Amino acid sequence: MLTEMTSQSWGMAPSTHTPLGQPLEWDTPMYKLAVGQLDAAAQVMNLQPNIWHRMRTPQRALLVSFPFRRDDYDTVETVFGYRVMHMNTMGPGKGGIRYAANVDLGEVTALAMWMTWKCAVMKLPFSGAKGGLRIDPTHLSAAELQRLTRRFTAEIIDVIGPEMDIPAPDLGTNEQVMAWIMDTYSAQKGHAVPGVVTGKPIEIGGSLGRKEATGRGVVTCMLEALRMIDLDVAGTTVAVQGFGNVGSVSARLAARAGAKVVAVSDVHSGIYNPGGLSLPDVEAWVAEHRWLEGYPHADPISNTEILELLVDVLIPAAVENQITAENAPHVKARLIVEGANGPTTMEADEILASNDVLVVPDVVANAGGVTVSYFEWLQSRQQFMWSEDEVNSQLERLMKEAFASVAATSKERGVSLRMAALILGITRVAEAKRRRGVFP
Ligand code: GLU
Repeated sequence: MLTEMTSQSWGMAPSTHTPLGQPLEWDTPMYKLAVGQLDAAAQVMNLQPNIWHRMRTPQRALLVSFPFRRDDYDTVETVFGYRVMHMNTMGPGKGGIRYAANVDLGEVTALAMWMTWKCAVMKLPFSGAKGGLRIDPTHLSAAELQRLTRRFTAEIIDVIGPEMDIPAPDLGTNEQVMAWIMDTYSAQKGHAVPGVVTGKPIEIGGSLGRKEATGRGVVTCMLEALRMIDLDVAGTTVAVQGFGNVGSVSARLAARAGAKVVAVSDVHSGIYNPGGLSLPDVEAWVAEHRWLEGYPHADPISNTEILELLVDVLIPAAVENQITAENAPHVKARLIVEGANGPTTMEADEILASNDVLVVPDVVANAGGVTVSYFEWLQSRQQFMWSEDEVNSQLERLMKEAFASVAATSKERGVSLRMAALILGITRVAEAKRRRGVFP
């Protein structure tokens, strides 16, 4: 396959269609974004075409469908699930599992590809992977969620494992879901296997600091980037789109670092107070009412308005495809730090660059989660627990190192931080592929 590829002229990506003209199974808008970024980087860095083409498609994609019985005991529906390993060059697969109504193979493949670059940028010994279940978890009972998770685990049990592929939380999943995966896997193996997942509860081998890790990494990147553009954090205004694990921790830690968080939003709506929000107060409101709506000490604002607010820093920490060609011209922030995966389209990237908006890309900005997942995996395998301070200081060290090398590459080559991060990640993986060679 690799030799066949050499016959293609450089600069032309392999077709994204089957010989019969059908689009490839994973060829969806999100996949197109991930592969579009790869193609752009490949051109800039003059990537060897054999390796470039090999990187465009997932090495392994498992699609399962299984029956899911609702609590009423009458309804049985068919649920689709995915686990994708982008490439297995760098070590065991690593990446979250998301539960969402619109998950498809293209989305999971794109996310797996981003995990590859993310792990490579952070120098973690993992290959990129991702999983997903096409179901909206917000309407499920706890018993339904547990049955669904255990059955999905059973369906993918042959491809996961501490040395093979290690899931973690993502959108719609949490530490309890990880605990059920770990338990189901361990029951089949006949002994506890804590290293099969990360982001699990502390009681069964989770790591201190894992829950806050992504948000902590986002804020570390924000502080480094503010230094780059000579902005003092004290009084810097911040808006955060998304108030799940990543958004809420980012907002809390940004405020703790001295920034003024003026707006946050969740899936339904947002809140805005130009004088600054009290994050402990907002978090207490959400703990009680679940959503931000109705929070008394701020004005309501929509989920899309928040992106165009007059603030210094914007942290998109919700879902993909939020900053697009339509709203990018109206973004007033000077700095965007991507807590979510894939929140900015390629067209938006160009508009933001021409408006001098600095973007810290997802593959660096939200890499704190997988970095502490790596620490958790190490702890699980060694059965040795790190202190929270150790976790946080090692995380900060690795985030700062990664940010500095991305910033240096960006300066050297005169490219955006996103392009620099992609070049760094892709170069490391390409070098490893070259060393390993082709079998047989
Ligand atoms: N789902 C997270 C991400 O997108 C974390 C993955 C992990 O910890 O393995 O980076």
